[in-house]
Order: sequence, then structure tokens, then C-alpha cells
Amino acid sequence: MKKINIAGFEIIKLKKLLKILNVNYFHGIQILKWIHKKGVCNFILMSNISKLVKYKLFNLCIIKFPIIEKEEISSDGTIKWLFKISKNNYIESVYMLEENRITLCLSSQIGCVLNCSFCNTGKHGFNRNLYSSEIVGQLYVIKKRLYYLYINNIIFSFNEISNIVIMGMGEPLLNFNNLSSFLLLIRNNSFYNISKKHIIISSAGIIPGIHDLYIYNDVSLAISLHATNDLLRTKLMPINKKYNINMLFKFFCLYKNVLFDAKITIEYIMLKGINDYNYYAYKLIKLLNDDIYKINLIQFNIIKNVNYVSSLMERIYCFQNILKQGGLIVTIRKIKGLDINASCGQLFGKFVNKKI
Ligand code: SF4
Repeated sequence: MKKINIAGFEIIKLKKLLKILNVNYFHGIQILKWIHKKGVCNFILMSNISKLVKYKLFNLCIIKFPIIEKEEISSDGTIKWLFKISKNNYIESVYMLEENRITLCLSSQIGCVLNCSFCNTGKHGFNRNLYSSEIVGQLYVIKKRLYYLYINNIIFSFNEISNIVIMGMGEPLLNFNNLSSFLLLIRNNSFYNISKKHIIISSAGIIPGIHDLYIYNDVSLAISLHATNDLLRTKLMPINKKYNINMLFKFFCLYKNVLFDAKITIEYIMLKGINDYNYYAYKLIKLLNDDIYKINLIQFNIIKNVNYVSSLMERIYCFQNILKQGGLIVTIRKIKGLDINASCGQLFGKFVNKKI
């Protein structure tokens, strides 16, 4: 019989399983603390669990996380990992040092069905959703790995991961149930205790998923906009045919006082000669005419087989100034990990192409 992997179970799901196994539910919190707080994946070592319970768990359950296949460390401190999920299935995670925070960017799917024209992940198609064990597994394994790198003097500081962004491979809101289990686990103050303000879910704009995210999970949201008109946005992001700009902003406007208590980040990738003209900055000011938005201009990291280049920094600063003068809160995300394959899908693409 195939064992049940409980590595990604949140507390309610685990308690339900324990009930079926005729095990007292209070063991649920103990087991999850062993796994996610103390890093123990062997039932035998869980010293405050009775022998009988260990025996039942040992026979029916397993605790299994993804394994690191490849690691690249950039001179700017960015680290990228390729995880092996199963034969020929890989995902990526990125660790980024920013001014006063440490951010981990995690994947939610193997590949992506949305096929944005500037993204390498989309070029490789979609395989499947990640299980919650595979989403939280990236965090779990990376925490251990960072400690190892630190004590072996490979990295020179070791701080707690403060921020999580689900901005890696895949569209998280198309994997809603597993994402929800993951969020329940990492927000629980008995385990990872990451505050909702420090968790950002980045979406291409899947409206039903955004609705459910706020109802059930209440974390921060980033929307990939990248264009101010449907023609261009559809070219960059084919999902715009289904959830277009007007639908998105109507939805935000309708629910702004009900669902959103934190600002929505609007992501805008700066592509030279495509969406970086002053004209588009003025269009953005009109579109984002509400204090629920802030905007993040993203410097584009060149990707093989993708025919876009990043706007120059002078252009990005000029664009930013126009937006600021229009009253918007604007940040710029510069390229990180330039000397490694840090863009979404890059390391995966390089690795998979090599293996084929
Ligand atoms: S940018 Fe995000 S949503 Fe678009 S194809 Fe890449 S992974 Fe998918």
C-alpha cells in the first residue's frame, strides 16, 4: 500500500487523518512541530509520541520533501536551487537578500499553462500542480541548506527568512487547494510564523482565485499587469483574453472595501520599446487612480529564446518619475543573480535542455 505523505498537511487535515487512524487529535500539533519546527522527518525520533502512535504512523504515513538537484550562488548573494520532484520534473526556488529582509521566491506548479511571452517557464509547457508538501518542502529544505552553507563558510550570514513570495514557476491561483494548505502551515505561529504582510502571492490575474484567496487566506497580492491596453497585454500574457484589464480593475473596485486591507502590488516588467514609453506611464496613472495600489517596475532579465530586452535604467527612472508625479507609490526591482540563471524558468530550462 502506498504511504500517505503528510509533509504538507496543515493541522486540520492531519487531525482528520489521525481520527481515521484512531489516534488522539492532540498529537497533530506535536507531529507538525517535530517536522516543521525541529526538522525531524523520522517518526521514531519523535520522543513525545507514544510507541503505538509511532507504529501506526510508521506503517501508513511518510514525511517526504523534494530534493535539491542543483544550486547556484550569485556574487550578489542571490541563491537559486533546482529541485527534483520526480523523473524529468524540476522546479526552481530563489533566495534573495534585500536591504533589511530575506525573501524566498517559491514555485507553485511544474511548468505553467499561461505561456506569457516574456517567460521561460511557459515555454516548457505545463506538467502538474505541486502538492502542498512540494511547496512547503522548498522552504523546509532551503532553511536547512542555508544553515549548512553558513556553518561551512559558504555564505556569511544566516538570518531567518522573513518574506515569502509565490512568484516562481507556475500560476499559484490555479493550484488553490495546495496553496491554501501551504499558507495555513507557514502562517501558523507554532511552525513558521510568517505574517500575512510578508507573504505575497503573485498572479497573472485569475479573478476567481483572487476572490478565494482573500476570503480564505488573507495574504498580500501582486498582479502582473505589464501593459495598459488589452492588445499589448494579450500579446504579453495570453490569459488576458479570459481576464482582461477592465475585468480585473472592475473586480478590484467592487471589492476594495470588503476584501482588500493591504495594498495590491501592480507588477510592471519594463520591456524596451514595448511598454516603456511615457505614454504608458500616463495611462497607468489613470488606471491606478486609487490608493489601494502600489506599483513595482521590474527590470527584465534577458532570457534565451525570448525576444525582449530590458529598458535601460534611465528609461525606468524616467517612467518612475512620471508615475510618482502622478501620485503613485513606485518601487523598482532591479535584476538579481545576473551571474546565475536567476530568472523564472532559466535554470530549469538550461538543465532540462541539457538532459534531453
Ligand atoms: S510569468 Fe508566471 S504566469 Fe506567466 S508563464 Fe511564467 S510562470 Fe506562468
